[in-house]
Amino acid sequence: MKIDFANLQLQYRKYKDEIDKNIQKVLDKSNYIMGEEIALLEEKLSDFCGAEYAIGCGSGTDALLLALLAIDIKPEDEVITTPFTFIATAETIALLGAKPVFVDIREDSYNIDASLIEEKITDRTKAIIPVSLYGQPCDMDEINAIASKYNLTVIEDAAQSFGAYYKNKRSCNLSKIGCTSFFPAKPLGCYGDGGAVFTSDEDLALKIKQLRVHGQDRRYHHKYIGMGARLDTIQAAVLLAKLPHYEEEIKLREKVALKYSEKLKDTHVITPKIKNDRNSVWAQYSIRVKNRDVLQKYLKEKGIPTAVHYPMPLHMQECFSYLNYKEGDFPISEKISKEIMSLPMNPFLTDEEIEYIVDSIKSFEEV
Ligand SMILES: *Cc1c(COP(=O)(O)O)cnc(C)c1O
Repeated sequence: MKIDFANLQLQYRKYKDEIDKNIQKVLDKSNYIMGEEIALLEEKLSDFCGAEYAIGCGSGTDALLLALLAIDIKPEDEVITTPFTFIATAETIALLGAKPVFVDIREDSYNIDASLIEEKITDRTKAIIPVSLYGQPCDMDEINAIASKYNLTVIEDAAQSFGAYYKNKRSCNLSKIGCTSFFPAKPLGCYGDGGAVFTSDEDLALKIKQLRVHGQDRRYHHKYIGMGARLDTIQAAVLLAKLPHYEEEIKLREKVALKYSEKLKDTHVITPKIKNDRNSVWAQYSIRVKNRDVLQKYLKEKGIPTAVHYPMPLHMQECFSYLNYKEGDFPISEKISKEIMSLPMNPFLTDEEIEYIVDSIKSFEEV
């Protein structure tokens, strides 16, 4: 058997008519930059997650940069985040000259440990960026409470969690600002780069819209130093075709995850834990194993692709050596990064495929 990790080709075939039609409309109109599809999509995205304003942009990385620019992050400022995430979370902080300050994760959720945040707050701290890793929201009540006590802004890095619920609210609407990515392999992906920023604050929304187009408030009048960070109209057209299917896809992803967890119970692997008051949109289904590298090779030979998100915590990355962190500073992140491994995850995995993947993992126990 040959398993496809994200199966974007099958997904395209399923929605081909709508996607092709939407792209063709853009081609016919040639409204490639800020075409009407952008505003239409933004309205639907904001309806979907409940935040008042959605602002489409060039990528998840652009979304984070726009959010940090919107709250005036400056050199010498400090922003608290997790070292167990994709590089963009901390990279965007550093690009603005501010200092990423890391806080270790929880061993159950792999998300930032809210109980360790307060001790890292200084006079220079301006914001907290919790990352809803693998699709599961963080402990947002605790994080928002700390932020309001110290007058900090919370920016949720929801690149992997668009659509997930925390209590009765959706990811991207859980704090002052939410940022997501439509990178093709994310739960809601477009066909290239794309992203969005969410907020219910009218002033911030206006500023983010202006920052997205070089900080201009009128054509060729630049109020802020901004970016060229627009979402392409063609990508908005793809998302408009895919969004109506997304709710159903989340359910299918949940079913796949449930089957994995059920079948992998009482084996040598540690399966993901989701808290009762939230759900995951399963950007990744990540298990923990000993002998990860050998298992990955073994599965690869059986036609099962796997991936590691993420093999090296950010405090150990060369680009952050100037922060002077050392091995041992974030023991949970370090431990998890050595054991974590993502299995194929997409809405279209069949029972037969899931069975085959699980049986292969179990047979490794015996070799
Ligand atoms: C994917 C991702 C990003 C960046 O999104 P891009 O669209 O690739 O720029 C940021 N943070 C996290 C946690 C991500 O997974």
